[in-house]
Formats: sequence, C-alpha cells, structure tokens
Amino acid sequence: MVEKYIPASKIEALEVLSKHDCYIVAGGSDLMVMKKNTAGLAPKFDKDILYTSHIDELKGIYEDEAGVHVKAGTTLDEVLNSKLAPALLKKAVSQVASANIRHFATLVGNLANASPAGDTIVVDFLLDAKVKLESVNGERIVDVENFVLGVRKIDRHPDELITELIFPKLTYTGDMWWKVGSRKADSISKVMVAGYWGIRGKIVEKFALSFGSVSIKAVRSHDIEKEIIGLSVSELKARKNEFIEKYGKIVTPIDDQRSNAEYRHKVAMNIVSEFIDKVVGGK
Ligand SMILES: Cc1cc2nc3c(=O)[nH]c(=O)nc-3n(C[C@H](O)[C@H](O)[C@H](O)COP(=O)(O)OP(=O)(O)OC[C@H]3O[C@@H](n4cnc5c(N)ncnc54)[C@H](O)[C@@H]3O)c2cc1C
Repeated sequence: MVEKYIPASKIEALEVLSKHDCYIVAGGSDLMVMKKNTAGLAPKFDKDILYTSHIDELKGIYEDEAGVHVKAGTTLDEVLNSKLAPALLKKAVSQVASANIRHFATLVGNLANASPAGDTIVVDFLLDAKVKLESVNGERIVDVENFVLGVRKIDRHPDELITELIFPKLTYTGDMWWKVGSRKADSISKVMVAGYWGIRGKIVEKFALSFGSVSIKAVRSHDIEKEIIGLSVSELKARKNEFIEKYGKIVTPIDDQRSNAEYRHKVAMNIVSEFIDKVVGGK
C-alpha cells in the first residue's frame, strides 16, 4: 500500500523522510509522466509519496554573501520573474517546456530529475552551483558537478531533501545560451551549450563552457578552460581549431529518438566555434 504524506513544514517533511523511503513530488511534471498509467487510472507509484510544493518555507529566492539561493519549491516561472536569479539561468529557464508547465515545475526538480536533456543543469554546471541537502541529522552542501552522477542518478541519500540551489556571485563580460531542439518552444533539447567569458585588456581572464544532451550528464572541462584563461585574445584566435578539437573529444553524444550523435557533435562544435569568435571578436 502506497502512503502519501503532505507535511505542514520542512521539518515535518524531513521527519517523514527519516522514516519512509518516498518519491518526493514537487511540480510533478517529470514524475507524473514517468509513473503514468493507462488512461483514466491514477499514476503507478510503487513506494510512498511526499508532496512538497505547498510548503512555504521551501519557496523563494534570496541573496547573501554566498550568492543567490533558489529554494527547492521555487517554480521555473518564479525564477524567470526574479530580479536576483542569474541572467543566464533565466535565458535557459525561459526555454524549458511551456509557460503552463513552468508555472508549477521547479528548478530543483529539473536538476534532481538528472536527465541528460535537463536544460537548466547545463547552466548549474557553468555557474558552479551548489546543492544544499537537509535531513533530520543536519545539512550538507555539494558542488553540482559532483551531485549529478549519471542518467537520473544523484548524490542524495533517501532521508535527504534538497532545500536550495546556491549560485555563487560571478562577474563576466558576456554570456551565451543555445538550445537546439526540433522547434522553438516546448521542445526537449538535442544540444544545449552555455558559456561565459571575461576579457581584461587583451587577455582572456574568464572562459567557461558547458554542454548538455551530449553525454550521460552535463559536460564541462576545467582543464581546457585553464589552458584558455590567460591567453591573449590573438593567441586564442590563432589556436581556435586546436580548442575546438579538444572540446570535440569530451563531447560524446549518442543516437536517440530526438537526434543522432553525428548531428549533435557537429552542432556542438559549430557553437564552440561561434562562441570563440564572439570572445575574440567581442561581437
Ligand atoms: C511536456 C513537458 C515538456 C518538458 N520540457 C522540458 C524542457 O524543455 N526542458 C527540460 O529541461 N525539461 C522539460 N520537461 C521536464 C520537467 O518539466 C522539468 O524537469 C521540471 O523542471 C521538473 O520539475 P518538477 O518540480 O515538476 O519535478 P518533479 O516531477 O516533481 O520531480 C522531478 C525529480 O526531482 C525530485 N525532486 C523534486 N524536488 C526535490 C527535492 N526538494 N529534493 C529531492 N528531490 C526532489 C523528484 O523526486 C523527482 O525525482 C518537460 C516536461 C514535460 C511534461
């Protein structure tokens, strides 16, 4: 028999999780599809369910010295309308699903679902987001790159609730977001790329790129970034093809129902080329 829990507060939710292994349902836009049943019948959940979307303590966005904190119950729509949320995150959020889904689906749900095609995860990786998890025994904070382990696999213990996603403050000269899908809206991504750069004088001071839908989880290379940071703009321009080749080795897409590996790889490398042009040309 599957039980459902509708806790009145965060601590009640943590108490439920300390005693019961539950599916945590926020907006439900991923889970209800995953657990769908024959038409007319309730979704097929095979273990208890904990609902969280009504808990006020889990809603909202605030800022402190650690950065911008997006609480777990914050919907994509609320992120989009926030003055505090990073601009690049908002660009990605604006292209997730459709307005009606963004109205109830959460940013944290997009991350915790850990789909290789999760749009906002690519930006979480790029912006060095941190995941705050709480249980009745305390809390811990994990770097998002270590938190996502693979397809629908995350570093969460059964008694833990994700309570926040934290975006450290970053400054840069420019950023870009690309989502390549079958159509402009309400489309699951074939490829996503997020990037930012910073130029001081004629030196590349900041450079970061992350990719989605090209591996089992979002991809970012701190090694390639380290090689690029510190180059002069003209050196980066001269070595552009070398870096495209390096990115080409870490972008390893597969064929699936939405696209094929060759197309995804080609598109991703075209985007890297366009991004480097932008960085060196200041276009
Ligand atoms: C028609 C349609 C179109 C879509 N289009 C896109 C798209 O373009 N791009 C895209 O990236 N996604 C898309 N999605 C997927 C989905 O809408 C997003 O992933 C959404 O952000 C999930 O949020 P949610 O609150 O609905 O998650 P839920 O379904 O409630 O949960 C998703 C996962 O997160 C876990 N979870 C939620 N909250 C917590 C918490 N506090 N602690 C621990 N675990 C938690 C759940 O247990 C579950 O495993 C689409 C979905 C649909 C149905």
